[in-house]
Amino acid sequence: MSGTIRFAPSPTGYLHEGHLLSALFVWAAAKKWNLRVHLRIEDHDQGRARKEYIDSIREDLAWLGFTYDSESIQSDRSEIYQRVLQHLAERGLVYPCYCSRKQLLAENPRSETGEVIYQGKCRPKCSTESGIEKPGGSPPSFHSVEDDIRAGFHSVEDDSLENHSIFRIPDSELPHSLRVVVSDKVIEWCDERLGTFYENPKKQCGDFPIRDRDGYWTYQFAVCVDDLAQGITHIIRGEDILNSTARQIALTEMIADACQGDATLHFPPYQRPKYLHHPLIVDSTGKKLSKREHAHSLRQDKETGTTPEQLFGRLLFKVGIAQSDTPTPLDAALGQIIRIL
Ligand SMILES: [Zn+2]
Repeated sequence: MSGTIRFAPSPTGYLHEGHLLSALFVWAAAKKWNLRVHLRIEDHDQGRARKEYIDSIREDLAWLGFTYDSESIQSDRSEIYQRVLQHLAERGLVYPCYCSRKQLLAENPRSETGEVIYQGKCRPKCSTESGIEKPGGSPPSFHSVEDDIRAGFHSVEDDSLENHSIFRIPDSELPHSLRVVVSDKVIEWCDERLGTFYENPKKQCGDFPIRDRDGYWTYQFAVCVDDLAQGITHIIRGEDILNSTARQIALTEMIADACQGDATLHFPPYQRPKYLHHPLIVDSTGKKLSKREHAHSLRQDKETGTTPEQLFGRLLFKVGIAQSDTPTPLDAALGQIIRIL
């Protein structure tokens, strides 16, 4: 095997056609480049992840015929995320942000895609691009999500500060996200299908959260730690993640550097993975389908007697890879994708 690729669904619903298209690309790439496949269940958002969806991911993949070499689930990895956070904090690369969602929307400009570009309101004044300088002070320590839950911090959802008094939370315990200090630097990266991009995460989103106000690790953080820790060499995913790539490269490099001396983490040496973002399933106006618009799950197809071969054929036709919607076995479906990789 010459590397590792991952299939990384979030268990916030049943798998649908969008996931199936991603899976076909991932397994086609694995076949083409002789890669191990790692199934990563991305349940970092504990508010939305459900056990029944986790079970269904494994069952649906087995039914479709996708086999994998290893598996991990993000909710098992909190200790590693906490350690990485501590390494970043020791280098002054993380700070608490007390801005409410309402404030973030009102006080910051937005990108073309509507994303908030954080202007650094809570960034310590003594910060530099290589971190926050703490003259003579000890490195900040961030308590774990579990500590937060125990302290009742977790239940504080309301944005209005008045309500916080009922919990008697000291100032430092007010709801906050943790943001990472992003350098003002253009990242040059190459997509195997779409070519070279030059992007500056500072301009795209500014300092971004690695832990949210509810105490959950963010998608960006968990993905970067896992890709690094699991030695992922190839990242294939939908074009909807395209503008996360530069910031993930920046954060992964930061993590790799900050954790270098910690042999107990067992991180392999960092090498930037190859990236490929595949097209999405779109509606007749060219708009990406939302989760709701992916009207039915693969599970429902299975229950109504549709075969995996019928699903593969229909999907490849729908995205313009096949000329007709003839039922297609998995191997043949992968072969059709390999031709366009
Ligand atoms: Zn803030």
